[in-house]
Amino acid sequence: MNKQKSNNKMKFNIYWIYLLIGIFFIGIQFSNNSSNGKKTNWQNVKENMIKNNDIEKIVIMNREKANVYVKQEAIKSKDIYKNINKNPIGGEIRGPHYYFIIGSVENFENEIKTTCENLNINEINVEYINKKDVFGELLSWIIPLLIMIGIWLFIMRKMSGGGSGSGSQIFNIGKSKASLFDKNKVNITFKDVAGLDEAKEEVQEIINFLKNPKKYTSLGGKIPRGALLIGSPGTGKTLMAKAMAGEAQVPFFSLSGSDFVEMFVGVGASRVRDLFKQAKMKSPCIVFIDEIDAIGRSRAKQNIPGSNDERENTLNQLLSEMDGFESNSGVIIIAATNRVDVLDKALLRPGRFDRQIFVDLPDLKEREAIFKVHMKPLKTDKSVDINFLSKQTPGFSGADIANVCNESALIAARKNKKIIQKQDFLDAVDRVIGGLEKKNKIISKNEKKVIAFHEAGHAIVSWMLKYASPLVKVTIVPRGKSLGAAWYLPEERQITNTEQIDDELCATLGGRAAEEIMFGKISTGALNDLEKVTKQAYAMVSVYGLNKKIGNLSFYDSSGRSEYNFTKPYSEKTAQIIDEEVSKIIEKAYQKAKNILTKHKKDLVTLSELLLKKEVLFKEDLEKIFGKRKADESKE
Ligand code: ADP
Ligand code: ZN
Repeated sequence: MNKQKSNNKMKFNIYWIYLLIGIFFIGIQFSNNSSNGKKTNWQNVKENMIKNNDIEKIVIMNREKANVYVKQEAIKSKDIYKNINKNPIGGEIRGPHYYFIIGSVENFENEIKTTCENLNINEINVEYINKKDVFGELLSWIIPLLIMIGIWLFIMRKMSGGGSGSGSQIFNIGKSKASLFDKNKVNITFKDVAGLDEAKEEVQEIINFLKNPKKYTSLGGKIPRGALLIGSPGTGKTLMAKAMAGEAQVPFFSLSGSDFVEMFVGVGASRVRDLFKQAKMKSPCIVFIDEIDAIGRSRAKQNIPGSNDERENTLNQLLSEMDGFESNSGVIIIAATNRVDVLDKALLRPGRFDRQIFVDLPDLKEREAIFKVHMKPLKTDKSVDINFLSKQTPGFSGADIANVCNESALIAARKNKKIIQKQDFLDAVDRVIGGLEKKNKIISKNEKKVIAFHEAGHAIVSWMLKYASPLVKVTIVPRGKSLGAAWYLPEERQITNTEQIDDELCATLGGRAAEEIMFGKISTGALNDLEKVTKQAYAMVSVYGLNKKIGNLSFYDSSGRSEYNFTKPYSEKTAQIIDEEVSKIIEKAYQKAKNILTKHKKDLVTLSELLLKKEVLFKEDLEKIFGKRKADESKE
C-alpha cells in the first residue's frame, strides 16, 4: 500500500522534470525568434534603409551575420517598418530589427564605405561581436547527457528486478523487497497444514509469545527472536510460517534470502536495515526469510579473501540487527533452509535463531492428511483411494502432493472427464516423478527388450533380498530422461546398518547384472545406477566407518571447511585402501546380484515378458508371480 503511493509520487515528479525540460527548449526557441528580427538582404538594406539614413547601427555577429538596428523615429514614422516584429510586452521595439548573412567582413566593410560615400551620408556605425550560440552549445552537451542518463536508467531498471516498475526503482534499491501481508490478509491457519504435528507444537509456543508476551516477560524470561525451519524443499516451511502469522493474527513479511543480494556493494546491508525498520513499525509481526542460506552461509568457508564481502556484510548486518532489537519488541524472525549444515554458526547462537524446528518429509499417515487437504477442492470419483495413493508416493513432499492433485485435475480435464478418477491420479504421480510421458520417443524393439530385462532385474533382486526396500512398481514407459524405472518404498528408518546398505547396492546393480546374464553384454543404460552405487560405497568406507580395513574413521567434516581444500585429510596409502575397499564392496554386491538372477532366471524372463506386454507392473502383479515377498511376510 505504502509502496504504491510513493511510486505514484515518483512518477509524478519525473513527469514534472520532462515538462520543465520541454518548456525550457520552447522558451529558448521563442526568445531566439523574437530577438533575431526579420530576414532581409543587402539590396533591401542598401536601397531602402541606408538611402533614407534610417539605420542606427549594424552589428556583425561571428563574422557572418549582420544585425540591423533601425532608428526608433524611423520605425515610428515609416510604413515600410510596420512589419517589424512587435515587442510582446509593448513599448520600444528593440533590435536587431533585421538581419542578413554576409559573405566576408572585408567585402562588406568596403560595400558600406562606398555606399555611404556614394550617397554622401555619414558612415554607418558598424560593431563586431562574437556571440556564442547558447542554444546550440547547450544542445551539444545536454543531448549526450540525456542519452547517458537514459542508458543508466535502463540498466538500473534491469538490475533491480525486471522492467516492471518505474524509474523510481533506482531510488528504492536499498529498500527491502519484502512483501507484506497484513494480518487480515493471511487467511492460512493450522488447518491448512497437514501433519507436521511436532513442528506445529513448537510453532504454537511462538504464537503464544506473540499473543501474550507479558506472561513470559513478567517472569523475567526472554522471548525468542527467531526460529529456523529446517527441511527439504516443498515440505511446507513457507506454509507453516504463514499459518503462524494467520494463527497469531499478526502481519507477515515474506522475502527470500537472495532478495538481499544485489550487484552493488552495501545494498544487502541496507535492505536488512530497512526490513527491520519496517518490521518494527508493524510490531508485533513475523518476518519470514526463505532460503536464508543465500546470505547465511558459513563465513569460514571463504578461502579467497574478499571474494564475497557483500554477502558477509549482509550477514553481519542481519546478526547485528537481531542482537539490536529488544527481545520484547514483538518481531519474530522465521527463517527457512534445507541446508542447516552450511549456515554460519553465529546465526544459530542463542539470541538469534535459537529454536530449530524440523519439517520432515511426510510419512505415510501425513501424506494421507496432505492428500485430504488438497483433494478438498477437487471433484473426485469413489475409485480414488487416499490410502492407496499415499502408499504410491513414498518420498513425496507436501508440494509434490499438491502438484499431483492439481495435475490429476488437469489430466482428467484433458480427457474431457467430468470427474477425476483413480487412473488420473496415478498418471499424475508418474508425471510428477518422471516428467512428461515420452510417447513418441523412438526406442527400437531390441532396446525395449534390454530395458525390460534391466528393470526386471532390479525388481527381482530387490524382491529376493531381505533388507532391500520393498518395490512399489516397475515401469518401462520412458519419461523425461529415463527409459524405465523401478520404484521402492524406502523404509522409514533413522539408522542404516551394513547389511541394509549391502542389499541396497545389490538391488541397484540388479539391472546391469540382468543385462549381462541375458545378453552376455552390458550397456550404458546403467549410468545412474553406477553413480548411485559408487557414491554410496565411498560413503560407507570414508564417511560412516562401516569398513573393517579403514576402521572406525570418518573423514566427513561437518563444518564444511574442507569443501574448498584440495588436500585430502588422509594419506596416499589410505586413499589407495579406500579405493580398493570400495571396489571390493561393489564387486561383491554385483556378484551377489548375478547369483540371485542366475538362480531365478526363469522368473526374470517371465517378468520381463510381462513387463514388455503391460509396461507398468505393481507390487500386486509381482505377488501373483512370486507369491508374497518373504521379507514382508516375516515383518508381518
Ligand atoms: P517450502 O517452503 O518448504 O519449500 P512450501 O511451504 O512453499 O514449501 O510448500 C509448497 C506447497 O506445498 C504449499 O503451498 C502447499 O500447497 C503444499 N504443502 C507442503 N506441505 C504441506 C502440508 N504439510 N500440508 C498441506 N500442504 C502442504
Ligand atoms: Zn537401473
